[in-house]
Amino acid sequence: MRLLIIEDEADMLRRLATILRAEGYAVDTAEDGEEGLYKAQENDYDAVLLDAMLPKFDGWELLARLRKTKKTPVLMLTARDASADRVRGLDCGADDYVVKPFDLPELLARVRALIRRGAAIAITRMDFGEVVLDTAQRCVWRKGEVVALQPSEYALLEYLALHRGEVVTRTTLYKHLFDENEDTLSNLLDVRVSNLRRKLGQDFIITRRGHGYGIGIEP
Ligand code: CA
Repeated sequence: MRLLIIEDEADMLRRLATILRAEGYAVDTAEDGEEGLYKAQENDYDAVLLDAMLPKFDGWELLARLRKTKKTPVLMLTARDASADRVRGLDCGADDYVVKPFDLPELLARVRALIRRGAAIAITRMDFGEVVLDTAQRCVWRKGEVVALQPSEYALLEYLALHRGEVVTRTTLYKHLFDENEDTLSNLLDVRVSNLRRKLGQDFIITRRGHGYGIGIEP
């Protein structure tokens, strides 16, 4: 899953990006309203974390402009518990908000919920026969045993699981699982696919030659 964080406080931006990358998300960043709006319009993010107070133009204006063309799920970060700010954010099309200073587990849970909502998946537990995935707990079982996955491997599995029954192209996977600094010609994706097959079964992820990958598709 690929996220965009738009936040002008350098320490907060760095901290959030580090935490979310450690969770396996690909993370792009922007430090003002203009740059943030440009990136949010150019790329198909799975969610955007948007600070309300930003230079150039603020988060509410950014959101109002973004909503003319895109439905990308947006989590607003508001500086204080001012109900007028929250109402304004929701009116502009924010999907959810957190108040700074936020509780980290709560922020991460809200990001996960937003991504599920974006993919129109209400349930958190997905059953694939011997493999079971829980997107709220970010946990995977095979034949009832917990499978240890790297955050990056989990991210790939979750993306394919949320699109079960569909062929997902390599281009799409690069767009959603790698940040703007990653070279799409690298073989990182192949490494992750082969690690997942080793851990979850060789036939769990199907390769459709010349098209892409999928779970629950015909070879
Ligand atoms: Ca700010």
